[in-house]
Amino acid sequence: MIATSHVIIGGAVGIAVGTVTQNPAVALAAGIASHLICDAIPHLDTPFRMEFKDGYVDQPIWNKKLYIWAITDSLVAFLLTLFLWQRYFDFYFFAPFAWGTLGGYLPDLLDNFPLWSIQIRQFPGLKQFHALHLGIHNLWQFKFPMPDNWPLGTATQIAFVLPCLWYIIR
Ligand SMILES: [Zn+2]
Repeated sequence: MIATSHVIIGGAVGIAVGTVTQNPAVALAAGIASHLICDAIPHLDTPFRMEFKDGYVDQPIWNKKLYIWAITDSLVAFLLTLFLWQRYFDFYFFAPFAWGTLGGYLPDLLDNFPLWSIQIRQFPGLKQFHALHLGIHNLWQFKFPMPDNWPLGTATQIAFVLPCLWYIIR
């Protein structure tokens, strides 16, 4: 999913677990879990066809188009998070919302950023995490290739994001 969807869903999940425990670490973990669950549903990551090295879906080619898209999406996600955090949680540092959004963003930040995505897999556990993250996308991405199935890949995100946004601002 796009970063903006991940942070909204992660933030809502953070608030939900925050009603049970005010522990920000639990909200962070729940945000990470929400990311992986959402990645298991067919979704659009980019509006254009991504290119891969050797046709292997593991290694995207970071061309100008992909950079512009990823930076814009991340910036929108970040600004939206700041806005909601200030408006509804007064920038409270331990707000489960804020830690949930971070958890929602973290898997792609660690695993998919071109500057360190390869090197970081040398850290214990992160190679396995990468295999899990990619494996979750591979559950559906050959059956519903994107962007060919963009109506489905967009509808799934709207179906998740709108209720989460409502839950945050209600
Ligand atoms: Zn992901």
